[in-house]
Amino acid sequence: FVFLPGTTKQVENGTNVDGEEKEDKAAQSLLNKMIHTSLVNTTNQVEVLQRDPNSPLYSVKTFEELRLKDKLLKGVYDMGFNRPSKIQENALPMMLAEPPQNLIAQSQSGTGKTAAFVLAMLSHVDPTNKWAQCLCIAPTYELALQTGKVIEQMGKFYPEVKLAYAIRGNKLDRGAKLQEQIVIGTPGTVLDWCSKLKIINPKKISVFVLDEADVMIATQGHQDQSIRIQRMLPKECQMLLFSATFEDSVWKFAERVVPDPNIIKLKREEETLDTIKQYYVLCSDKEEKFTALCNIYGAITIAQAMIFCHTRRTAGWLAAELTKEGHVVALLSGEMTVEQRATIIERFREGKEKVLVTTNVCSRGIDVEQVSVVINFDLPMDKDGNADNETYLHRIGRTGRFGKRGLAVNMIDSKHSMNILNQIEEHFNKKINKLDTDDLDEIE
Ligand code: ADP
Repeated sequence: FVFLPGTTKQVENGTNVDGEEKEDKAAQSLLNKMIHTSLVNTTNQVEVLQRDPNSPLYSVKTFEELRLKDKLLKGVYDMGFNRPSKIQENALPMMLAEPPQNLIAQSQSGTGKTAAFVLAMLSHVDPTNKWAQCLCIAPTYELALQTGKVIEQMGKFYPEVKLAYAIRGNKLDRGAKLQEQIVIGTPGTVLDWCSKLKIINPKKISVFVLDEADVMIATQGHQDQSIRIQRMLPKECQMLLFSATFEDSVWKFAERVVPDPNIIKLKREEETLDTIKQYYVLCSDKEEKFTALCNIYGAITIAQAMIFCHTRRTAGWLAAELTKEGHVVALLSGEMTVEQRATIIERFREGKEKVLVTTNVCSRGIDVEQVSVVINFDLPMDKDGNADNETYLHRIGRTGRFGKRGLAVNMIDSKHSMNILNQIEEHFNKKINKLDTDDLDEIE
């Protein structure tokens, strides 16, 4: 079999009539994977809940302690990993324990979950057996490919282990038997391969990984398909579930898919507004907001700045107007492919552009740490038109660790936006001062 998937197809965010973007969790998640080329820093401690509270809790500080096969250890070091990440310190010994233990793990994107379960899958495989032994499901084709790349990279010195992609477009004949030991795919195709087509014998699966559980349950049908797959697996199969967030719905799903789990959670760093100077600028309309922005442009581009707009249309317009004025800006917008977005974020991170114009939705959940100036060209609001405090905090707030000082400027052009500003002030119990854009001494 040749299972080389084609080029990544376009992932688009949807828009409604106003050009307002809908959230696309899978695209956001993919983007996060693409831009997290190293571990996200965290000083928070992991929380571990053991299925058997009396058993000793193992954690490792080095990869050697895991007694991995040499070929795998070599793969790990070749990826540039020196020591396990926070979550890996606890998750790896649990996943590699004998007898196998089930695990539910939650931590934000970029903390080392994928690397952890890839290592677990690669360690469990018996390469002399030519059948599927590890099964991993992901919400989209693109996310599956991204994880597949990690498997290939980490297994670079272990070529006996083969990987197959169970994704739409990989057509196999009914009854054809898969020889690859690791299968990664989307729930629909994996289910077909396990049941209708009988390409995989689910009874021979010994490790089952459900990645991006929060994104999974956001897609119609994926939850049922995942549960149906899980029911076909043997009782002693190791079940592992990963998620970046953990709302109640994710938790309920996780408990259905993973019996008797150990649980590992790593909190996000708390964000605060304490080190941020917050201002607002009073304008009468969009054009005046633009003029005000031009007035402060010199002051904000001393550092790197992000400018947030509510719609793609406004973001596109603003980027074009700024360009006309001779400014070099980058535009990040929802109609771009995830690859294009990743490239733009990467360039911005490298400082190739100092200003990034984007929409609220497009950039939600994306961490660009070095930004110290944030302009809310439009204030963040929820679908009812109320202040979206959480987004405001995430955009502007700093974690204690990166506790550099920052500057936030909110552009107000209506009663409604003033109202949102007041809600934000009240929510955070912090006054936002008026900025006179003709007299900028204040923000220096
Ligand atoms: P998650 O699945 O939680 O989003 P990843 O496993 O994709 O996190 O890891 C995020 C980034 O950090 C990747 O670029 C990965 O190669 C890298 N990484 C993972 N584990 C380690 C480690 N122990 N040491 C150094 N880098 C790591």
